[in-house]
Amino acid sequence: MAELNTDVRYIKGVGEARAKSLKKLGVTDLKSLIAYFPRAYEDRRESRRIAELQIGERACVTAMVAGTPKLSRIRKGLELVKLRVVDESAALELTYFNQSYLRNTFRVGESYTFYGTVEGTLLRRAMTNPVFEKEGKGEVTGCIVPVYPLTAGVGQSLLHRAIRQGLDEAAEQLVDFLPEELRRQHGLCGVRYAYENIHFPVDDAALAEARRRLAFEELYLLTLGLRLLRARRTTVKGKTCASVDMAQFYSALPFSLTGAQERTAEDILRDMSAARPMNRLVQGDVGSGKTMVAAAAVYFVAKNGLQAALMAPTEILAEQHYHTLAPLLERLGVRCALLTASTKAKTRRSVLEQLAAGELDLAIGTHALLSPDIAYQNLGLVVTDEQHRFGVNQRAALGAKGENPHLLVMSATPIPRTLALMIYGDLDVSVIDELPPGRKSIETYAVPSSYHERIYAFLEKQLAEGRQAYIVCPMVEENGELPDERKAVTAYAERLQKEVFPTRVVRFLHGKMKPKEKETVMRAFAAGEIDVLVSTTVVEVGVDVPNAAVMLIENAECFGLSQLHQLRGRVGRGAWQSYCILVSDNRGEDNRARLDAMRRTQSGFALAEEDLRLRGPGDFFGARQHGLPTLRVADFTCDMELLYEAQGAAEALLALDPTLEAHPALHARVRELFDLNAEALN
Ligand code: ADP
Ligand code: MG
Repeated sequence: MAELNTDVRYIKGVGEARAKSLKKLGVTDLKSLIAYFPRAYEDRRESRRIAELQIGERACVTAMVAGTPKLSRIRKGLELVKLRVVDESAALELTYFNQSYLRNTFRVGESYTFYGTVEGTLLRRAMTNPVFEKEGKGEVTGCIVPVYPLTAGVGQSLLHRAIRQGLDEAAEQLVDFLPEELRRQHGLCGVRYAYENIHFPVDDAALAEARRRLAFEELYLLTLGLRLLRARRTTVKGKTCASVDMAQFYSALPFSLTGAQERTAEDILRDMSAARPMNRLVQGDVGSGKTMVAAAAVYFVAKNGLQAALMAPTEILAEQHYHTLAPLLERLGVRCALLTASTKAKTRRSVLEQLAAGELDLAIGTHALLSPDIAYQNLGLVVTDEQHRFGVNQRAALGAKGENPHLLVMSATPIPRTLALMIYGDLDVSVIDELPPGRKSIETYAVPSSYHERIYAFLEKQLAEGRQAYIVCPMVEENGELPDERKAVTAYAERLQKEVFPTRVVRFLHGKMKPKEKETVMRAFAAGEIDVLVSTTVVEVGVDVPNAAVMLIENAECFGLSQLHQLRGRVGRGAWQSYCILVSDNRGEDNRARLDAMRRTQSGFALAEEDLRLRGPGDFFGARQHGLPTLRVADFTCDMELLYEAQGAAEALLALDPTLEAHPALHARVRELFDLNAEALN
């Protein structure tokens, strides 16, 4: 028996060299070894008749060696062992590369079970390097076999053996931290059974049980962790704000706020007037006017003599926020500065000095605003825009900057209500579910690429009327692969300029450009100096150019529903009718359903629900969009029912033991999952 923290190199059959390779997989000790779960399974239970095998399928056959294996040396370093095996239905030709010893392993007249990919022709079936064992042994055939993610120097058989060994050695140590009562209530198997069967399931039912237990466990720990984060706030003292007459702010706005904006602003001001720090998420569809809500919050803390930091995920967005907010807020006596990576050293120095001296009320920039070299005199509010780029861990770390500033996160990524509570369990949520008046819906079309000529003609018409257009392509070349000209932003922009819109200004934008270059292009587009902007998804979040009326998305099948919706939200921000054209030749059912949903609905929340329906919750977790800890099992198996069950169970436990004081093992597991320092979760 070995302790769970036993170094993996002491596991029988591993050793020094293999331990090094395993490390690349994150496997360092016995515990991480047995928690290295398969990515798939091969069902090798059933032995098939050779005559039934289809070319290309992977299958098991049990057959007798019909002739002496033949060894041939093709050249130096290439040796083949060939043999013929038969069952009562047909013969199968087997070839093994560079395993000359096999010549003496197989005995004529004896039966073995082989597993491999069927090759050759239906008249002459063959397998290359099939796995084999003596008939009836049942170790690598005749059972369900796990398939692990691999890395150089670590093969399936090494992992099989090491994990088998590891499970045997760990058995006694696997103590169930889920109380028996809870397991009984939710029909969860024990931890040993779960580990055994997630790796080596005896049958499908056992595998399902194992997964269910492990997925529940993860969702349970996740919920507990998020709830603890939330609870922690109730014990921390915040910067309680005094009430402020907001009339001056509201009357300085060029419009009156929508009801939803007002409600949200009230939520925020109420939070900041309370004794504990605010931790609020504002979810609002693209164009719902989140910026002004943030401005209200900034004004409010500034009038309370506190500083605010507004963080955007990109410099372009930070700039844009600065250009919208500074003129408005400066007039109201709120001193603003922009601070990004491209701020000149001299300016930067002076901004830092002013921040430290309390001579600035608002710093706008990227998340570098929280870097340790930036000292605030009295930071009272941190606003993060488009929060899905900021993970749970970062949220937790924020408390460290200033003495527990109020935290406001704004997101245009609509999360289905059913998942929001899970993902944002540590936040209070306001939803801006109303668009400013007078917005026209964006006409949305899905067309095949054969429509390009028509699309370009339509674009030209729009440009002639003075509008601008975005064209979005999937990511710019990765490792030299350019599967389609349209996929390459630069080449596409060049071609459009030369061949399609010779009299217009066509420019491109992609993530690999220097921040300065990106900004220059984006600023020129915003100023109307560029007619057509060909870009990757860098325009995805937040950028506001009201004169842009067409969003053309190439290879729309490459984007998820919520991403398509985000992109569409770049247009329809002005007084003109706007259009979104989705180009795709993919006739797959999923793709069609998604494009259809885009055509039918304009609501991000409705689309998110649709996405959930089409793809299941796995993707919401899997995409790691939301900065949740990585889930290893729930990822591919969790269903809503299980999620609810786990949430309910976690809440019931916390009602009895709010700090998990009485459940130290569980508390330790929660911390582990979040990988947070003790302070954040205590
Ligand atoms: P998002 O929620 O996507 O961040 P923005 O804050 O960028 O949206 O607002 C989108 C546009 O709507 C901006 O041009 C903004 O000036 C405008 N806007 C915001 N609130 C209102 C309102 N209450 N009435 C009219 N226009 C508004
Ligand atoms: Mg925004």
